[in-house]
Parts: sequence; structure tokens; C-alpha cells
Amino acid sequence: MPDVDADRYSRQTRFASLGPDGQAKLLAARIAVVGCGALGSVVAMTLARAGVGFLRLIDRDVPEISNLPRQVLFDEADVAAGLPKAVAAARQLGRINSQVSIEPIVADLMAMNVAELLGGIDVIVDGTDNFEARFLVNEFACRHGVPWVHGGAIGAEGRVMTVVPGRTACLRCLIPEPPAPGSLATCDTAGIIGPAALVVGAVEAAEAMKLVVGSGDKAGNRLLVCDLWENIWRTVDVSSLATVGCPTCRGGDYPWLEGRLGARPTPLCGRDAVQVPSAGGAVDLAAIAARLAAVGSVVANRWIVRAEVEEGIQLSVFADGRAIVSGTREEAKARAIVSRYLGA
Ligand SMILES: [Zn+2]
Repeated sequence: MPDVDADRYSRQTRFASLGPDGQAKLLAARIAVVGCGALGSVVAMTLARAGVGFLRLIDRDVPEISNLPRQVLFDEADVAAGLPKAVAAARQLGRINSQVSIEPIVADLMAMNVAELLGGIDVIVDGTDNFEARFLVNEFACRHGVPWVHGGAIGAEGRVMTVVPGRTACLRCLIPEPPAPGSLATCDTAGIIGPAALVVGAVEAAEAMKLVVGSGDKAGNRLLVCDLWENIWRTVDVSSLATVGCPTCRGGDYPWLEGRLGARPTPLCGRDAVQVPSAGGAVDLAAIAARLAAVGSVVANRWIVRAEVEEGIQLSVFADGRAIVSGTREEAKARAIVSRYLGA
């Protein structure tokens, strides 16, 4: 381990299954964390502390006060500053471990940018809150043979499954069709407690470390299901699903990756807000800030412009052209606000 403070990692390298060889692999590893909310915060923090050499943090959102009970990388100052989560997280991680190279990306993972955002990555970790992003990650991972770790938390429950393309079941093997919007409980409707996110994020980080250090045979084909309130901890053997496979991992069918599914307005989990995809790509934030200043008070930085456009309705515009409308859960209303104030 040249140029690295060996003492820093001495307790984890003393763990025989990791060892100095495993540490060297962690230092050389490139991991993408998709979503920097509750799960992604824990995953990114744990992997940065462990000395993973390169972390790409992908997130589309900004921290809100209601995030703080579980999103451990953010504090009240981040909420006040209105910095995107990926940027705020990268700053915090840089203070935790300055030896880690961290690349924050403020973007919504979509079919049109997934190859760019997940290219050159060894392991992908799920910190998202929606099935559209997960299916996109799953298809990219299956097509390119990249292992990924799926995780989810809601209420006091958590689940984790590792996907190693060619060896284990994939997400579509487990969930043949993504649930229709509104058909499942979300952290909006069922709530979530911080410990559930912390547990799931920690298990995801451990799975990612195993994949990197070459203990990947211990990962995958078991779905972890836990409920911290009911004290339930169990793993479900999903190897029979891997034997059969699914249209994606066996048949090369990639409907999300190829844009046949996805890219519609999406209610954001845990928030009274809707995201409206960009109609045309990058936008001139300074010009938008100037226009919206006539409507209401504006907060602007190089990543985002946010304005209170109507009573109780906040419009946030990102440099990539996406908008988030806060104060509503109605897709039609969100679209109307975007077209009213952005003309999109
Ligand atoms: Zn499959």
C-alpha cells in the first residue's frame, strides 16, 4: 500500500478476510453510489472511511429539513445553503477521508445518461428511492457485467440483494414488473426510521466491499429481509430464480435502458414534490434566476435555481434542465407549473 497511511486502515486489514491485499483492492476500486439520500449517505460514508479509492456520487435532489433524521451526511447548514446533495455529500466525505477521490454528479440517472454516469465503474450501489432508477441500473449492470447491490428501506423494514450478472438472480428475476406508481407504500406514506436506513446502508456497503476484495462468492443469491421493530432478520435463498433467469439477465431485453419505459414526471419519495424531466437538456440558470426574480424570492448557485413561484409552491431548476416542483404531489400540476414559469 504505497503512499497510504497503513495505520489508518490497520484495524480493518487485521480482519483476515480483508487483509492488506483486500485493502489494496479497495484503494484501487471505483464505486458509484446512485442516490445520496438515506441509504446512499450511509453507503458513501462507510466506503469513504474504508478507503475505496474513487466514489462517484449521483443524486438529483437537494437536502431538506425532513431528511435530517436519516440522511447522515447532511446538516442544517446544508439545508439552508440549498446545495445539491451530491455536492454537500462530497464536501463532507472530503473531510472524513481526504485520500478518497470523490466525484459528485448532480443529475437524474436516465437512459440517455446511464452509460456516461455508470461507465468505468467496478461496483454500483443502490441508494435510490424508486424502481425506475433501480431497473435502469439492473439493466445496465446485466448488459455490461457489472455487479451491483440493491437495497431498500421503508418504515422499520429493510431489504438487500446483491446482483452478480451471470451468477446470481437479478432484480427483474425477483420483481418481474416494477410496481405501478402509487401501488406500494413509500417513505411518503409509510414513513421511515433512521435505523432502518442505517442498517440497510451498512449491509450494502459490506456487500460492495466483498465484491471488491474478491469475496463476491459470499455475496448474492440471498435476499436479506429485516424488520427492526419486529426483530425479524432472515435471508431468503433466491438461487432458484437465478437458475431460471429472466428476459433481462438471460434474454438481453433492456426496456428501460433502451428508453421504451421511463422518463415521466415522478413523485419524489419522502417529499411533497414532483420531478419533471428536462424537455431539452442543459439550461441557462442565470437567465432563469433573473426571470424568476420577478415572481418571488430566488436562491441561486451554479447547480440550481430555486424560487417560490406561488404560495406554498417552490420551483427548483437544475443545470441539466430538470425541475422539481415542491408543494404538490400531482404530476399534472407540476407540469403546469413548469410550463407556466419555464415555458417547457
Ligand atoms: Zn434476471
